[in-house]
Amino acid sequence: MPVNTTNYCVLGELGLQPLVCYTFKIQISYIYKTLKLGQDRIPYKITKMCMEKNLGWAQFLRRLSIKNGLLRERDLLTSDFIQENFGLFSSLLMIDVKSKFEGRVNGAEKHLLYKYLRPNLEEPQGYFAECTYKESLMIFKLRTESYDVEARPYSGKQFINCRVCHSGEPETIAHFVAECSFFSNIRKKVFKKGILFQTELIALLNGEYTWKKLISFMNKMIKVRDKKLRIGEFAL
Ligand SMILES: [Zn+2]
Repeated sequence: MPVNTTNYCVLGELGLQPLVCYTFKIQISYIYKTLKLGQDRIPYKITKMCMEKNLGWAQFLRRLSIKNGLLRERDLLTSDFIQENFGLFSSLLMIDVKSKFEGRVNGAEKHLLYKYLRPNLEEPQGYFAECTYKESLMIFKLRTESYDVEARPYSGKQFINCRVCHSGEPETIAHFVAECSFFSNIRKKVFKKGILFQTELIALLNGEYTWKKLISFMNKMIKVRDKKLRIGEFAL
């Protein structure tokens, strides 16, 4: 993946949960087991001490429980509380993780397209099952704006305007795929119109015209763009 690919895009496209979800489940199961041990056992004593002094994992779990109304601000964790609510903790963490994920997607200042692309933390996007690796990679890069256009977020490029149509517009994914006048003939052939509206661009990138149609359209677009940019380089 290009270095500018954000973590939340990777998770949203692949349907993966952040690592904290896996480690939390393992850790909380271990804590639960230690509470079943005899009170003279060291793991039991350490677990009790973490709860009483609100240390490490206990601080994290206590904060999560307070946030979700299971504990009051003045309460500390207890063995009974953990044993009674053990089955709930992973779901609470998932709610928290999802809310942070949505906050990152919706609060992003640069990857603006992604807010409309229905990313999902728990299910991979459909194109991974339908398309080849190479095709999936192309769709991934288009959806997450990590495809190498001039105005790719965080690319560090100083000149970000479209070098294909010279309109003075930044070459974003939206410009390239939906608006750039240089490709209007290809759009007319595929969509019967020279420019795509934003809703049509979103539908296209969401696979609503089918993933295969997106791939065949983009292969034509990329071939023409690459050729045009190669000719431009020779002319310099
Ligand atoms: Zn252009």
